[in-house]
Amino acid sequence: MKAVYPGSFDPTTYGHMDIIERAAAFTDELIVAVLNNSAKKAMFTIEERLEMIRQLTAHLPNVKAMSFSGLLVNFAEENDARLIIRGLRAVTDFENEFQMALTNRSLNNNIETLFISTSTQYLFLSSSIVKEVATLGGNVDEMVSPIIKEQLLKKIDAVKPNNKF
Ligand code: ADP
Repeated sequence: MKAVYPGSFDPTTYGHMDIIERAAAFTDELIVAVLNNSAKKAMFTIEERLEMIRQLTAHLPNVKAMSFSGLLVNFAEENDARLIIRGLRAVTDFENEFQMALTNRSLNNNIETLFISTSTQYLFLSSSIVKEVATLGGNVDEMVSPIIKEQLLKKIDAVKPNNKF
C-alpha cells in the first residue's frame, strides 16, 4: 500500500524520522509530502526541506520526498495513495488531527488517515521547539540529525545582523 505523510517539516526532527521509519516498514511506498503553504512563515525553503528529507531517508528505498499545494486528498489521489499517515504526540494534537482526518474523509472517503503515536522520547519535540532552541544557542543534538543541525546553524548565522554581537 502507498501512503502519504504530510507536514511542514521545517525542519525534519527525530520525531518525524521515527514516524517515517515506522511507516516505511509497513508501506510499499511512502511519500513524505512537504506542504507548500505561502501563508505559513518558514525557516527553510521547500527545496531545502525536500533536499534534507532526501538525505535523511537515503537509507529507506521506499521513501520519497515531494512537495504539494492545495488539498491533501487530491495530492494523495493523484499519486495513487489511499493512506494518510499522521503522527500524534500529546492529547493536544488530537483535536486538530481528528478534525482534519474527518474533513479529509468527507472530501474523499476512499482515503484513510492512520495515526501513529510518538515514541515517548519525542513526546515534546516539534520543529518550532528545535528552531527556538537552536536560535537561542542551545544544544539540539537530541532533537535533530547532524545534517539538520548543520543547516540550522547556517540559517541562523545567515540571518544574524552583521554576524557579530
Ligand atoms: P504540520 O505543520 O502539518 O503539523 P509538522 O511538520 O509539524 O507539520 O508535522 C507533520 C506530522 O508529524 C504531524 O502529523 C505531526 O503530528 C507529526 N509529528 C511532528 N513531530 C512529531 C513527534 N515528535 N512525534 C510524533 N509525530 C510528530
